[in-house]
Amino acid sequence: MKRGNLFLLIGNMFANKTGTLMHEIEVLRDFGRKKILVAKPDWDTRSGHGDIKDFHGKTMTAVEVSTTSPWEIFHLISREEECCGKLDVIAFDEIQFFSRDFYLVVNRLLERGYDVIASGLALDFRNEPFGSTLELIGLCPDLRTVRWLASRCAQCGEVAYLTQRLIDGKPAPYDSPQVLVGGKESYEPRCYSCFELPEKPSGAYSLKSP
Ligand SMILES: [Zn+2]
Repeated sequence: MKRGNLFLLIGNMFANKTGTLMHEIEVLRDFGRKKILVAKPDWDTRSGHGDIKDFHGKTMTAVEVSTTSPWEIFHLISREEECCGKLDVIAFDEIQFFSRDFYLVVNRLLERGYDVIASGLALDFRNEPFGSTLELIGLCPDLRTVRWLASRCAQCGEVAYLTQRLIDGKPAPYDSPQVLVGGKESYEPRCYSCFELPEKPSGAYSLKSP
């Protein structure tokens, strides 16, 4: 069986990752005539259940997959294919929320010949790896299938690759939890110069996230 291809859309918050994912899905459906299943983690509730949503409010129907057991996607694929025929592409949004097994799940999908398109945060608010997003680069056949999206710094207007977390308008400390669901009231894009992370250990330390 011919191995599928992975197309990865990664970046910070407010980089239009979901909007870009939806555009790619529409092109694949409308011009490529591909059958696509769109999926998202089951505890990303920001866009409501059963949809993915960009920050302009555009939505697209999506099935929900267990964050702790992303192997569930194979059950959802079987169900969809029994009803509506063979799928070509599996699309995932917010992949940083899936457990580290997600790497193995995507590899299995590619082995089974599905193309995969996936978007998510590369880094958390600490500028440290978020979930298995960065590991998935290892499954891309060449670097043209990875697109690193950026936003603009809310402080100075330069290109912004980082996500600044704010609590009551002030930079959140290093020890606040990795996942804190919120929008523009809790996060803004920032460049490396304007990024602030109070209480970051000054000496040697280990990654907090697994
Ligand atoms: Zn800046």
